[in-house]
Amino acid sequence: MNFIVFVYIAIGITLAFLAMLLYMRSVASRQQHVCPVCGERQTVELMDAKRCSQCGAPFAND
Ligand SMILES: [Zn+2]
Repeated sequence: MNFIVFVYIAIGITLAFLAMLLYMRSVASRQQHVCPVCGERQTVELMDAKRCSQCGAPFAND
């Protein structure tokens, strides 16, 4: 295997890892809701849950 090929693979893996980290951070921040009623912080799937699982209050949509 060429050294150049190894360098390309290393760069590709590094970029993919960084992209995955950024993606996971953005998704994690997007999915976190804080209940306006009880203050419970919740992780919500995309458009799945729109109510607090603790007190049942609907999340405010901005
Ligand atoms: Zn709540």
